[in-house]
Amino acid sequence: MTAVRPSPFPASTVLGYPRIGPGRELKHALESYWSGRIAYDELDKVGARLREDTWRRLHALGLGALPSGTFSYYDQVLDTAVLFDAVPERYRAPAPEDAYFAMARGAAGIAPLRMTKWFDTNYHYIVPEIGPDTAFRLAGDAPLAEVRQARALGLDTRPVLLGPVTFLLLPEPALDAPAGFAPLDRLPDLLPAYERLLAALAAEGVAWVQLDEPALVADRSAEELAAVRTAYRQLGAAAARPALLVATYFGDPGGALPVLAETPVEAIGLDLVRGSLPAPDVDLSGKTIVAGVVSGRDVWRTDHDRALAALLAVRERAAQVVVGTSCSLLHVPYDVERETDLDPALRERLAFAEQKVAEVVELASLLTSAPDGARRGAGSRATSSSLSPEPVAAPREGRSPYAVRAAAQAEHLRLPVLPVTTIGSFPQTGELREARAALASGRLDESGYESLVRGEIARAIASQERLGLDVLVHGEPERNDMVQYFAEHLDGFAVTRHGWVQSYGSRCTRPPILHGDVHRPEPITVRWARYARSLTDRPVKGMLTGPVTIVAWSFVRDDLPLRDVVFQVADAVRDEVRDLEAAGVSIIQVDEPALRELLPLRRTAQDGYLAWAVDAYRRATSGASDRTQIHTHLCYSDADEILAAVDALDADVTSVESARSHARLLREPAVGGFERGLGPGVYDIHSPRVPDVAEVEESLRAALRVLPAHRLWVNPDCGLKTRKYGEVEAALANVVEAAHRLRGDHQCRPLTVE
Ligand code: GLN
Ligand code: ZN
Repeated sequence: MTAVRPSPFPASTVLGYPRIGPGRELKHALESYWSGRIAYDELDKVGARLREDTWRRLHALGLGALPSGTFSYYDQVLDTAVLFDAVPERYRAPAPEDAYFAMARGAAGIAPLRMTKWFDTNYHYIVPEIGPDTAFRLAGDAPLAEVRQARALGLDTRPVLLGPVTFLLLPEPALDAPAGFAPLDRLPDLLPAYERLLAALAAEGVAWVQLDEPALVADRSAEELAAVRTAYRQLGAAAARPALLVATYFGDPGGALPVLAETPVEAIGLDLVRGSLPAPDVDLSGKTIVAGVVSGRDVWRTDHDRALAALLAVRERAAQVVVGTSCSLLHVPYDVERETDLDPALRERLAFAEQKVAEVVELASLLTSAPDGARRGAGSRATSSSLSPEPVAAPREGRSPYAVRAAAQAEHLRLPVLPVTTIGSFPQTGELREARAALASGRLDESGYESLVRGEIARAIASQERLGLDVLVHGEPERNDMVQYFAEHLDGFAVTRHGWVQSYGSRCTRPPILHGDVHRPEPITVRWARYARSLTDRPVKGMLTGPVTIVAWSFVRDDLPLRDVVFQVADAVRDEVRDLEAAGVSIIQVDEPALRELLPLRRTAQDGYLAWAVDAYRRATSGASDRTQIHTHLCYSDADEILAAVDALDADVTSVESARSHARLLREPAVGGFERGLGPGVYDIHSPRVPDVAEVEESLRAALRVLPAHRLWVNPDCGLKTRKYGEVEAALANVVEAAHRLRGDHQCRPLTVE
């Protein structure tokens, strides 16, 4: 058992803080370092300054307990892998930073580790690889170094580490691991390295350490819960260690909470925004509870009454309650004060990271003065859906069953078998980006910008005609971003100037803020579509972003159930679909790359979500007539998980990313049974590599073994926005050639059989 009584936890804290820098300083430094313009030392100086600025700021705002270790040069999961030496041999390099960035971004001839979304957020982490032979050891002193760095400023910090269970639940088995191996099997070998680190931190005089275990809010098996018990009994039993805070977040730990409560950890972090108050039979009387009542996932001010009620309810059951954030503030921008262009009435309602820290501090002082037993029985925030009125029934007129539509479309469009198309965007040139900046700052007028965009459309159309594609796109040059563009043209949204949030590595996004009822005041894409059509006789796809994706990549009002908000957006998209159709556009693509992202972490909630997400999509697209072909595009390779829902979207054609997992996707039984058109991506647009004809032909042949030719579409993985024209044209020429070679074999087949 613990030798020392832990020092009490200060009254307020945050689980983590943004790290990219208020002016994206880290992004700029990283990109300069990668391009060789600055040395590692200089990058390191920027990192050190960002950490110090954060600690100073949190201290100045009056926060009780400051976290350290929430900074990262790329990703905290990667940091943990490196800290415990889980570095696959192929990445090892003499300089540690070279190994680190090779894992994140690849190196000469070596592909990077896979990257995937961090739970249900839009942050991406690097997926470590762990095998039976991974030799865990404490291989660095970053957590100690940060403690010392903060101390030099006179500030004590609480190191934040990824907890051992989540760290072992996230990785992929190493390439050479035997079948049936699970990284979690390695827990007994990993724990000693954590013990060594805790001992070193204790020796340094660190009072508290935070171990993040967000994986505990998803469904966990009995063995996984047993691993939680083992891990925290063993770490808790260490002779010399700081007091332990195990932070759960992004939901309710459910059955993992009683397990944690029975271990010797001193404190548990609960997300009381997404999760509920702990069940009454869980004994928390000996624990400190860090009550996450200020949301780290949205940009709204906290309802103090509701937060205080939850804090008081927890105070009655726990040894101590600390006011905290629901999760790290990594997922929100820095400071709303900088958004001077926002409508003041909206700005009043907003809280970014700085404002959220101030709320935590204020709630802590309110809590101190609140009498015991006040406001009893109040729950945590009611879940949105319990407030939900039944939304207006979806308008669902129009579309006939697929077979009828397919015949009408074949007649109308007269496409060849194995039609070749792309996902929508064409390369965005630097000139275009500069022009957008110039337009924003007034250096370029609307008509100058407009003619530039038209020029890009003409270039994309000419290029596709020359290459021989069958269904063309206008190339999306008018869009900076597939969500922000629509947000800028819809009522009910606001966009920020500095509201950057890290997406991965140096990449940031500026999510729009959906704050009111959504309406489309006027057509958004129609004039571009019309112009593109005027340049060619071939069909040009209209290109829209779907309602789920628009909402998933925005900060969304929380006074309406999410479903109702998505339905409002769906109705706006529906208006646009109708107008495109009226303008003579006969193929309309409505992208839903984020369909999977909003999937709830708990299985019990997933079917309900998928049902309304599918409804929203159909609401957006069902206004089209039978002969208008509706396409959709999904970005991720694990589409197989939700293929049934994809089928239910009832789009006529679906393109999916699959170049990196083609074989796996095609093995899915649901693919063979897929009723409608399907375009499994034939080449990976994330890499500058140009696939040769044989390669594309082979992947098409593989697809033809499970799909009938009349259902197969030929397309790249995703949009071509980030590539260069030269690469794209070379790749598409090979794709067209491969399709033409195979087309000969299949010509005699009818175009529609249903
Ligand atoms: N139509 C979009 C594009 O091509 C789709 C992007 C995406 O799936 N993320 O850029
Ligand atoms: Zn995509």
